[in-house]
Parts: sequence; structure tokens; C-alpha cells
Amino acid sequence: MATNGIPTTASEIARETIKQMAVRRVEPTPDNYTRIYSEIAGKPVKEDAAAALRKALKQLPHDSLEQTNWINRWEKALKQDNWQGLGDLLKESMLQQLSHSTKWPRAIRTLLQGWEDKRGDIDPAQKREMLERVLINFGSDSTLPDKLLGMANNWLPADARVEGVPAYEGSEVGNTPVPPASVAAAITPLTKEELPAEVQQFHGAFTILQTLLKQTLHLGLVPRLEGYPDLQSEAIALQASAERAKKLKEWEALAKSLKALLLRVEMIGVQEDDVRGDIIDLLHLLLSNIGELVAEDGWLSGQVYAVQSIISGPLDRAKLKQAEKSLKEVVYKQGLVKYSLIEARNSFKSLIGSFIDKLKYMGEASEQYGGKIEHYAKELSQTDDLIKINELVNHLMRDTSVMQTDIMRSHDDLLQQQRIASETQVRMQKLQDELSQLSEVVRIDQLTGVLNRRGMEEAFNTEIARYRRSGESLSVALLDIDNFKYLNDQHGHAAGDSALKHLAAVVKRTVRPTDIVTRMGGEEFVVILPNTSLDEAVTTMSRLQRSLTKEYFLGNNQKLLVTFSAGVALFKQEDDVTSILLRADQAMYLAKKSGKNRVMTEVDLQQS
Ligand code: GH3
Ligand code: MG
Ligand code: MG
Repeated sequence: MATNGIPTTASEIARETIKQMAVRRVEPTPDNYTRIYSEIAGKPVKEDAAAALRKALKQLPHDSLEQTNWINRWEKALKQDNWQGLGDLLKESMLQQLSHSTKWPRAIRTLLQGWEDKRGDIDPAQKREMLERVLINFGSDSTLPDKLLGMANNWLPADARVEGVPAYEGSEVGNTPVPPASVAAAITPLTKEELPAEVQQFHGAFTILQTLLKQTLHLGLVPRLEGYPDLQSEAIALQASAERAKKLKEWEALAKSLKALLLRVEMIGVQEDDVRGDIIDLLHLLLSNIGELVAEDGWLSGQVYAVQSIISGPLDRAKLKQAEKSLKEVVYKQGLVKYSLIEARNSFKSLIGSFIDKLKYMGEASEQYGGKIEHYAKELSQTDDLIKINELVNHLMRDTSVMQTDIMRSHDDLLQQQRIASETQVRMQKLQDELSQLSEVVRIDQLTGVLNRRGMEEAFNTEIARYRRSGESLSVALLDIDNFKYLNDQHGHAAGDSALKHLAAVVKRTVRPTDIVTRMGGEEFVVILPNTSLDEAVTTMSRLQRSLTKEYFLGNNQKLLVTFSAGVALFKQEDDVTSILLRADQAMYLAKKSGKNRVMTEVDLQQS
């Protein structure tokens, strides 16, 4: 024991340690013994190697997936107190380090060579872009020298390349970089729970994307490729791959195939658009030709116009179906009536044929009898023989009676055929009438959905009859869109059509349900206002004009406004449809002359 009482020998320190453990009431563990022993001996506490390692691992950078995984493996071994494993990891790291130190010089040398080499077809800007991409993707990766070597080797012409170096897969310009498979291969798989939170989140998001990709292929691409069996089976195969793909390499292959397929789908899309445009052009051509052919046939040209206006706007399936329905109706009704007409025409033709035949026969018959009569007349003049004369008269009598019967029969035949011919004519007329009646069916303007001119006249006559019965005032307004030609020229015919539809819709919304809105033609509308005085009609039209200043319509992708000029007239006892429309039209013309976008009446007309 030292003179100052401080334990100095090992056995003194050991004894004092045991005493201190009892005094401090600490647990008699080897750790506590070591700690107190060191304290008494005045030596610093030896740091726990495991704790020190843990601390060091915490301070290491986690910049890449590879680094994170490397640290995870160390931490896992530490947690399991697996010093053998830690030793192996250390060895592995050392070897990697060593291989790095040999890889870097080769990589840098090849990089310099590749950079300066002007023989290849990659220019310096592309090289810089590729280099930046490799640095972004693998900057904190142990595979960086390999990637740089692979990339730079690729810049060199084939005969100057370092042999046995795999090309960097993402080195093509314009390729989207994907983490190389080698990174994944270097990772010892961890269980899901061991993955860091961010990686787990990524994992979750990736699973969602995987499901969405499968659904997109199944619900979107595969049905889209109906009619393209090759492409469709490729899409189905991709769907199956997306189901199976686990490894990064498989996803890379999948992405590549998908990209190639989408490129081809894009191509067929362009072709289909062209084909669709061509079909529509063809249909327009066909319809305008039919329209010209049947110009005098009201019903058919009405239907053709309807189909034309349906296909002139932007198309959707509903509109095409509507056009198909209208055309089918045309085909059906025309077939029905035209067939009967053709039949009637044919039978009339054959009747005329036989009529002419009969006439010919008649001619021949009278010629024949004429000859005979001449012959008998001659014989008669040449003989005085009574017996001969008697014989001649008998012959003549017989022949003329045959002739008379023949003529009588021909006459009856003729009468009969004349009757049939006139009956056929009546039937044809009936069919023609039926055809024109069919044309009456179209009373609705196909573009705007309001009554057309024919519908307007019918409705007007009904209202006139009511006026005469009830004596209530009946007004009429004639509206004409202002500067409509300019709108058509400036924004296109489709915008013009939209304006017409818009105006019709706003008018219908603004007037009373009992008022009748009709399109006279072009950009002229007639509103029939039963039980309405002239002043009330003017008020209604002015209210309509105010509504229109607030309601835009979409034409040519722009918000547009439309105005109109109107003429209003009041129905009088002596009026008919034509006379009252004439006054309304004159008042409208006055509104145009006075500056447009205003309402004038027949009273203004008298004052002007
Ligand atoms: P104003 O103000 O004097 O009435 O001039 P405006 O340009 O409106 O009248 P104008 O009579 O000179 O032009 C009418 C135009 O309407 C000419 C014609 O091309 C067009 N049009 C007629 N029917 C239709 C249709 O159904 N759709 C479209 N988009 N335009 C039509
Ligand atoms: Mg006009
Ligand atoms: Mg106009």
C-alpha cells in the first residue's frame, strides 16, 4: 500500500474496487467492475467498441441506396453482436476499396481518351450531357468508375475500345436514366421492416404505380388496339410482364418494350385521324351529290341537309349515331315509295307499248281491209255477172263483218287500255303526292331544333284561326342576326352555326311558352306571339336583346356575342301569313338601316 493511502498495486485496486461496488450498491457485473477499476486506477474508461462503431456509422453519409444498404448491413451485424459478420464486412469493404484504387486510373484514362477522340459520332455537347447523367445517377456509388469506363469506352471508335468493358446501358442520348441493375444486385436483400422509412414509402408508391400500369394496359391499351392483333397481343404480353416483374432488370426491359409499343400506337393514332378525316370528306362529297340529285325532293333534301349539319360540327359517337339513324330513315322511306313508283312506271310503259302495237295492228288491219275493199270494188266495176256480183257482195259482206268485229274488238281493247293507263297515272300521282307528304314530315329545323319555315307556316295558320275565333291580338317579330356574314367569315361556318343555335336557345328561354319560335331560313327567325300587343312584343324583343348582351356563346374557341335587328307587326283582319311577314320584314329592314341591334315596328315604318 502506498504511503498516501491511494491503492497502487493491482491487488489493492481490485480490493478497493470490490469495496466501492458494495458502497455504491452497483450491480456486480463485469462492466461495472471494469468501470470502477479504471476509475480507481486513474485510467480513462476504455470506450465500448460496439458503441463507437455505432456512433461512427451514424456519422457516415447516406447519399445513395448503396451506402444506405452498406450501413444497414453493418448495423444489423452489430445488433446481432455478430463480430464474425462485421469482420467479413470489413474485409469486403477493404477489397472493394482496393479494386477501386485500380479501377479509377483506368476509368480516368479512358474518359480522357474518349473526351478528346473526335472520330466517333458523339459530339462534345452530347458527351457532356452523358457524363452529367452518369454523375447524377452514380455519383455516390461504388460502381462510378465502371460506369465512367463503360461510357467513355463507347465514345471511342470500335477498334480503339478497351476490350471486355460492358457498355453503360443508359449512355444513349435522350434515354431516361434508370438505376442500373448492378446496384440492386450489390444489395443483400433486407426484409421489408428493415428498409429505411423513405425506401418503404417509395416501395409503397411503386406498388401503386405497378397496379396502375397493369390497369392502364388492361383497360386502356388492350381495348384500344382492337383491330390491330399484333399490337394487341404485345400489349397483353406486357400486361403479363408487369404482373410478374420483380427485378429492376425486368422493369427496365418492360419500360423499353412499352416505349416501343407506345410509339407504334402513336403512329396508328395519326393514321386513324387521317382515315377519319378522309371518311368525313367522302361523306360530305356523297351528301352534297345526293343533295343535288334530289334537289326537287323536299323530304329527301331535308334529311340530307340534316345529316350534313350533324357531321359538320365536332363529331362524337352520339352525333354519328344520329346521322346514321337519319340516313337509315332516308333509305327506308325512299326505298318504300320509290319502289312502288318504279313499279307503276314500268307497268305504264308496257301499257303504252301494247297500245302502240295495237295501233300498228289497227293500221295494218285497215290497210289489209282497205286493199280487199279496193279489190272488191275493182272486181265489181269489171263484172256484170250477177252471180259473180252476188258472190263478190257475199265475200265483201263476210270480210267487212270480220273487219267490223276486228275493229270493234280493237276499239274495246283500246278503251280498256286507255282506262288502265289513266288508272296507273292516277296511282302514280297518288304516290307522288305521298312522297311530297312525306316531305311534310320535316317541320323541325335540324340545326336549331325550332320549327322550320314549313312548321312556321302551319303554326301560323293555326294561330290565325285562333285569332279569328278569339279576337285576341296576335303579333309577329322577324329577327335577323346582325353582320352574320362577317361572323362566318371571321370565325368560320361552325361558329356561325353555333350562333344560330345559341340565338334559338336564348329566344326560347326568354319568350313565353305559348310563343312560337321558328327559323325562317339562313339567319332569320320569326317569333309568333299570340295574345300579345305590338308594344308587348317590342318589350319582349328588347328584353331578348338585353339577355343576349350578357350571354356569350362559344365559337371557334372564343367567347362571342351576337346581336339582331327585329321588325314587329300586328296581325290585322285582312292579313295572311305573307302580308304580315312582309310588314315585319320591312320594319326589320328599317332597324338595319337605322344602325342595327334594335327593334322597329310597322308604326315606325309609317313615320319614316
Ligand atoms: P346584316 O347585319 O345586314 O343582316 O348582314 P348579314 O351579314 O347578317 O347578312 P347577309 O344576308 O349579308 O349574310 C347572311 C349570311 O348568313 C350569308 C350566309 O352565308 C349565312 N348563312 C345562312 N344560313 C346559314 C347557316 O345555316 N349557317 C351559317 N353558318 N351561315 C349561314
Ligand atoms: Mg338576312
Ligand atoms: Mg343578317
